[in-house]
Amino acid sequence: MKIKVELDKFHCKGCGACAEVAPDVFEMDETGDKANLLKDETTEQETVELSAAMCPTKCIEVTTEEEEK
Ligand code: SF4
Repeated sequence: MKIKVELDKFHCKGCGACAEVAPDVFEMDETGDKANLLKDETTEQETVELSAAMCPTKCIEVTTEEEEK
């Protein structure tokens, strides 16, 4: 199942946790201060939800297709 991912860069404090847990979906930008979203849709629900849970500022939002309906 595909999920949608949103990243609120304004509130990201650059801890790097998301990029470590789900490197296919998140990367740190050149400065290392913010995360970048590599994909806004993915099937990697488990790792992305873990990233969202670990994010200290809760700036990662995950939406499943079921929730959208
Ligand atoms: S886990 Fe959250 S605060 Fe840390 S780099 Fe990722 S988006 Fe930013």
